[in-house]
Amino acid sequence: MGETLESDVKLLQIFLSNSIVPGPAVYEVSLKNNKVVCTCATFTGSRSCKHYKFVKSKMAEYSGEYPLELIPSAPVTAYAQATKSNKDYSQVVTMYGVVEVS
Ligand SMILES: [Zn+2]
Repeated sequence: MGETLESDVKLLQIFLSNSIVPGPAVYEVSLKNNKVVCTCATFTGSRSCKHYKFVKSKMAEYSGEYPLELIPSAPVTAYAQATKSNKDYSQVVTMYGVVEVS
């Protein structure tokens, strides 16, 4: 009780999009119940989008595991924190993750 599905959500990648009007917009690709999902409108409509494809191809490149890439100023403890739980991982990506522009 009190446990929500939120803990099953692992934020993988944040995208900054300059290609839409009025833009810019921020989209998040997450692993939710072992499925890759994106928050953009294209994904909502077709279950696929450029962000989704970007993440899926990178996962294929890294044996199914999306690589955690942090900004240079991230504390060294950030990587350890990210391994604790999906919630911690998502928090680390939000604070220190490298943002892709797409
Ligand atoms: Zn998308």
